[in-house]
Amino acid sequence: MSNFDYDLFVIGGGSGGVRAARVAAGETGAKVALAEEDRYGGTCVIRGCVPKKLMVFASGYPGMVEEGRAYGWDISLGGFNWDDFHGKLAAELDRLEGIYRKLLAGSGVETFDARARLVDAHTVELSTGERKTAKHILLAMGGRVSVPDVPGIEHAITSNEIFHLPQLPKSILIVGGGYIASEFAGVMNGLGVKTTQFYRGAQILRGFDDEARGLVAEEMMQRGVDLHLGTNVERMEKVEGGIKVTATNGSEQVFEQVMYATGRAPNTDDMGLEEVGVKLGRKGEVLVDDYSQTSVPSIYAVGDVTDRVNLTPVAIREGMAFVDTVFRGKPTPVDHDLIASAIFTQPEMGTVGLSEEDAAAQEPIEVYATSFKPMQSSFAGKSDRVLMKLIVSKATRKVLGCHIVAPGAGEMIQLAGIAVKMGATKEDFDRTVAVHPVMAEELVTLRSPIRET
Ligand code: NDP
Repeated sequence: MSNFDYDLFVIGGGSGGVRAARVAAGETGAKVALAEEDRYGGTCVIRGCVPKKLMVFASGYPGMVEEGRAYGWDISLGGFNWDDFHGKLAAELDRLEGIYRKLLAGSGVETFDARARLVDAHTVELSTGERKTAKHILLAMGGRVSVPDVPGIEHAITSNEIFHLPQLPKSILIVGGGYIASEFAGVMNGLGVKTTQFYRGAQILRGFDDEARGLVAEEMMQRGVDLHLGTNVERMEKVEGGIKVTATNGSEQVFEQVMYATGRAPNTDDMGLEEVGVKLGRKGEVLVDDYSQTSVPSIYAVGDVTDRVNLTPVAIREGMAFVDTVFRGKPTPVDHDLIASAIFTQPEMGTVGLSEEDAAAQEPIEVYATSFKPMQSSFAGKSDRVLMKLIVSKATRKVLGCHIVAPGAGEMIQLAGIAVKMGATKEDFDRTVAVHPVMAEELVTLRSPIRET
């Protein structure tokens, strides 16, 4: 008999924490508790992937109506009712949170709607004042938005607030060039908001394949996003009708809203971590080994709080591997290699493996790519372009990277990701007969390299 209150105490009710708690309690019979100070479901469900994707859907209809007209439909675009959409969005998030709570209860996990912090290697203290002990503690607190210290930053919103605006603004400035900034620039523009984006560097989506992010940026501008590269905010002040923004290039403009999407930081402040001996990295992330174990043997950590690959499916994998390791006696490291992902810009980008630049720095490669006007929008008289690109190792013939910029690229890369993860060669792609007529058929009909290094 254990002397602890629980076998496992999980801090954080997001994707990673909930999955680990449910599986440990429901499938291994462990006695599990979980504390969440905010809403169950975490960033992804409550203020991230899920509401974002619903907003991406909402913002796509004006383009569809326009295209429909070109196909002979006698339709025109009416107005967008933000209150209506927002009400439905809030109800959907309530529904999803309810499911998360039900799943936990159904697996026998005891939940505390409270903040928890560490007291020692086996004890947490809840904001209610109660203390609980556990043989193992799992840190799954996720991350939070991080904004720079710019004069007037208090006037700006972040991705936390964008889903709850009382009304849709007439104009918005989005600051940043990462996933969140670029996705919301597309969403706001699609919803009819005059959208400006400032990015301090030379091209948005740093770290992704240059050709792919270049095309995304071009297409975003063509759809109406006023993208300013090499530009940042110097200061902001509240004025009649909005926020006056002075840019680093000296220009001044008033926007009804300014949204910062300048990165996220691990949620490790004031958790008692270092006092207990849990080592943190430079950004405040919890340092873990391949099995998600921290420097304190009874304490593990999964998801964004560890700042490994900050994506929901990765946190879920880490949570499951933790349960296998600790509760099933099967030490399981998480494989963080070749994770396919999608960026819901407009057009979408789907990517797996190495960018051309990273692959070329590693070994001799061949680059196969084609960029073309897809049938559906081309028929409607639009000049939209898509990109299908493969990076191939000269030595092994393996596909090292696959990059797709196209409507539906997220769906496509999920499938291409299986082949790449299996180690498919260019010749494996070539002997796959095309599906016709679809955009992705180009991935199996790329004949000769456009570049070699
Ligand atoms: P990112 O780290 O992706 O991007 C941050 C952006 O802000 C970069 O363009 C960065 O510029 C810029 N920036 C940083 N500091 C400043 C500053 N002081 N002034 C101006 N610009 C600045 O963060 P996000 O917030 O976009 O997203 C956070 C994480 O959430 C992502 O890393 C990802 O893991 C996850 N996510 C994933 C999604 C998906 O899979 N589709 C969608 C949304 C989020 P620079 O490039 O110069 O550093």
